[in-house]
Amino acid sequence: MQVANVTLGIPYFNTMNTLDYIELEQRYGANNYHPLDVVITKGEGVWIWDIEGKKYLDFLSAYSALNQGHCHPKILEAMIKQAQKVTLTSRAFRNDQLAMFYEKLAKISGLPKVLPMNSGAEAVETAIKAIRKWAYKVKCVPENQAEIIVCSNNFSGRTISLISFSTEEQYQDGFGPLTAGFKVIPFGDAKALEQAITPNTAAFFVEPIQGEGGIIVPTNGFLKQVEQICRHHNILLVFDEIQTGLGRTGKMFAHQHENVQPDGITVGKALSGGFYPISAFISTEEVMGVFQPGDHGSTFGGNPLAAAIGIAAIDVILEEDLPEKALQVGEYFLTKLQSIKSSYIKEVRGKGLLIGMELHSIAGGARRFCKALANEGLLAKETRDNVIRFAPPLVISLDEIDWALEKIERVLTITC
Ligand SMILES: *Cc1c(COP(=O)(O)O)cnc(C)c1O
Repeated sequence: MQVANVTLGIPYFNTMNTLDYIELEQRYGANNYHPLDVVITKGEGVWIWDIEGKKYLDFLSAYSALNQGHCHPKILEAMIKQAQKVTLTSRAFRNDQLAMFYEKLAKISGLPKVLPMNSGAEAVETAIKAIRKWAYKVKCVPENQAEIIVCSNNFSGRTISLISFSTEEQYQDGFGPLTAGFKVIPFGDAKALEQAITPNTAAFFVEPIQGEGGIIVPTNGFLKQVEQICRHHNILLVFDEIQTGLGRTGKMFAHQHENVQPDGITVGKALSGGFYPISAFISTEEVMGVFQPGDHGSTFGGNPLAAAIGIAAIDVILEEDLPEKALQVGEYFLTKLQSIKSSYIKEVRGKGLLIGMELHSIAGGARRFCKALANEGLLAKETRDNVIRFAPPLVISLDEIDWALEKIERVLTITC
């Protein structure tokens, strides 16, 4: 069927090929991304199809936003059902979905209070506001003096305040003046944390495993040590679980590998299973207690459509036992990847199904391997220059993992 598209001035829209889409996008879009040249039109479970009809295994899962797989039927049904009833009320009124969404999030996180937002970056901004207000109202830090300690190589999003504590030069270049009040220590260094603390320190804000930073897993015991240091000095411990949370690393949340009790966490990405931007800051009564009516808000945050989708997305994680699946499949996959003999590979590391393969610099960068993998029907994305990230939807089967392993081994042993 051919459909005329008058507004775009393109007579036969569905006859466009990959290059046409790329050209049109480059003509009208901002140039802030460098995507692989694949135009995706359909997704189902772990599989995606491009407009040429080629099928790929999704090994990125939209940076772990698709833990439940593409277009999960149960989440889709919840979305359609709610979209036919009411989608947005604003928080000027209450809606009949939000309370149940709160309860679900509180139950899976072990933290009692929830503040819903949309993007991950907004959840982190919310965490920073809560941390600062706690410092002034509860810890009695002098006004405007609160400090938050973060780690080098972090990623928490792209707003001005969040890039202000990034250590990636490009993220900050040209965007100043930046937000003050952050102190950077090396990731995984508990001693450096202890030394950086002053009477004005409000919190340590950290990813349990650095995702965008190249899948950096801290040594066992780091999170537990950090917890003790934070307790001892009366500073808050807040984890950014936006990428590591909701089953990805083999537990519901990555900090649960070490039985740590944080004061707050940020979640996003898989909180909707890829259907909708939904995020949240979740915390203790004491921390969330600093917010009074009018202190903070969001037009779309906590809307009934988001809440209904979020409930279904969490239900799928629980019903399909995705954390346990990620643990088992991830262990198998990691072991197999580590046994690939290739002079390009420096290290394969990770937890659950958040796995990074770091290449030697002589390999010539991870991107060309991602391109070769795409030709083989496997879509992965480099993170930093030399790391290929393998993070498929958690619903992936062992057969599909074996299928992928064969391709990965071929590309890493033949590509030159
Ligand atoms: C993706 C990500 C964010 C930002 O989420 P957005 O929805 O892109 O704003 C924050 N923290 C971590 C750890 C992330 O991986």
